Amino acid sequence: MDYLEALQNPIFKIVGTCADELNVKAYVIGGFVRDFILKRESAKDIDIVAVGSGIELAQRVGHALEGRPEVTIFKNFGTAMLKYNDLEIEFVGARKESYQRDSRKPIVEDGTLEDDQNRRDLTINALAISLNTDSYGLFIDPFNGVEDLKNKIIRTPLAPAITYSDDPLRMMRAIRFATQLNFEIELSSLKAINENKERINIISKERIVDELHKIIGSTKPSKGFALLHKTGLLPIILPELTSLQGIDEVEGQRHKDNFWHTLEVVDNISKTTDNLWLRWAALLHDIGKAPTKRFDKKIGWTFHAHEFVGAKMVYKLFKRLRMPLNDKMKFVQKMVLMSSRPIILSEDHVTDSAVRRLVFDAGDYVEDLMILCEADITTKNPRKQKRYLKNFQIVRQKIVEVEERDRIRNFQPPVSGEEIMRTFGLKPSKEIGVIKEAIKEAILAGKIPNEYEAAHNFMLKTGIKIGLKPVTT
Ligand code: ATP
Ligand code: MG
Repeated sequence: MDYLEALQNPIFKIVGTCADELNVKAYVIGGFVRDFILKRESAKDIDIVAVGSGIELAQRVGHALEGRPEVTIFKNFGTAMLKYNDLEIEFVGARKESYQRDSRKPIVEDGTLEDDQNRRDLTINALAISLNTDSYGLFIDPFNGVEDLKNKIIRTPLAPAITYSDDPLRMMRAIRFATQLNFEIELSSLKAINENKERINIISKERIVDELHKIIGSTKPSKGFALLHKTGLLPIILPELTSLQGIDEVEGQRHKDNFWHTLEVVDNISKTTDNLWLRWAALLHDIGKAPTKRFDKKIGWTFHAHEFVGAKMVYKLFKRLRMPLNDKMKFVQKMVLMSSRPIILSEDHVTDSAVRRLVFDAGDYVEDLMILCEADITTKNPRKQKRYLKNFQIVRQKIVEVEERDRIRNFQPPVSGEEIMRTFGLKPSKEIGVIKEAIKEAILAGKIPNEYEAAHNFMLKTGIKIGLKPVTT
């Protein structure tokens, strides 16, 4: 392979020249080199390692560049960053790291390129290309990472027990890269992850969640969750999912394994949507099934109110993982809470009023909800699958019809509270809420159309029924 091709961006020559002038060695290293070899669209970050001061090199490069971009220095980390066009370029001095057992923070000393490559997480992330003029384009791969890229293998530069124990975040990264790149993790790595799994507890929740997002954002997220499961990390970070695993049998009746079912649902939905939070909703849509599982002699296995319980669990899970408790969390909760509604609808005769209620409750997220429900079909029986999909088509069609006619999605009461007060000469009071609710109900039930005239007349009737008198004007 011609590694000069990787260096077409003029920034690399500039870095090399500046490094020459400072009399230090400089290399582009890590993700950029890996993604070049994989012909994968690279993230917009480029990592430069200098044998010497990364900060000084960054400052010199900053001066040499047109427009003199600002150089941001992170003194504590000994790193610096500058932006060049749409790229973020990170500079770091080559380092040697030694770790203590109870901390992710190593003791850091200046080191050689080799020291620096030794402390990298994976062989495929330790590839470097020299930028100095006399060795421009020279490829340096001490652990044969290029072979691992070819063979699609995840391997560590040092003995896996050392690499993973030093920084347990690497366990998540290994699984994340295996998922994103569709690589296999070598057996000794899997073993070492299993043996070091408890050490994941010294990693901040935010970093764990970053990796989870990347796994969930992959083409086939199930691969990552199967690996988390196999290595024993899953019960530590997402016990709610582990609890879904297994099939119980009572009196010859079995329920499906809701863990593997869930993973299929996540893979399915990932073919349809890149919406990260909708994918999270797919991952969590059945978590309420573990605590609600019962066996009933007459009806078999039940998961009564699992959607409601699941929605509550979503909040706790987000909180525990320090995920934002904002509208994203509420969206996931809503999807979990409503996850069975279209199914119940499609099994029954689909009435307009049931569809109106669905659209009212889901609001703008009704399409997301339908996507979730369609992904939830994992039956291996092709006839059943066809029937379920067809039923959802009918629900979708009804949604369109009801929307066109009744505009329920962002329901605004056609008669305002003020008008009710004026009509009956009321001060703010309970009756107003009662009348408004009655109007909404009448519209959703299809008794009256979602229009002013009809709603106004209905208000008069309802008010009189509960003993109010319209004031004559
Ligand atoms: P991407 O940016 O696509 O997620 P990347 O490999 O560039 O992938 P970064 O997080 O940007 O990942 O890290 C840049 C490089 O730093 C990696 O390629 C790897 O060499 C090194 N690295 C990152 N995190 C660690 C870690 N926890 N332990 C060891 N080396 C790491
Ligand atoms: Mg990167």
